[in-house]
Amino acid sequence: MLDYDKLLERVRQKLPEKTGLHERFQMPVLDSFVEGNKTIVKNMNTIASYLNRDIANIVKFLSREMATYATIEGGGRVVFVGKFLNKILNAKLEVFVNTFIKCKECGSPDTKIETQDRVQIMHCMACQAKRPLPKLK
Ligand SMILES: [Zn+2]
Repeated sequence: MLDYDKLLERVRQKLPEKTGLHERFQMPVLDSFVEGNKTIVKNMNTIASYLNRDIANIVKFLSREMATYATIEGGGRVVFVGKFLNKILNAKLEVFVNTFIKCKECGSPDTKIETQDRVQIMHCMACQAKRPLPKLK
């Protein structure tokens, strides 16, 4: 008769090694509220660290998409000029993720940005695909 613990141990050994942070990728959700004529995002640092990108990059993208200005105040607080619905901000964040995070080839979010000849390249850690990124102005 097989010892149950030994069996369990054997099963465990067969499990693949951890494949990184994004094994179970979930779209991060921006937490925001409107104050006067501004929209304040409270958790941009959480979003940036989860996505492994600079806060500045994400904010630049969002403010350009919404045709407004934004100030990074530290502590993950970002102030956008104008009133924006939370679902609009999150929809824009999803565009960012689809454009700058997810690999177009295999859909993995485990990608890195590399610079080659002054062109930004997205390098997928899962399938090794590389493709140039659109420029963030
Ligand atoms: Zn890939």
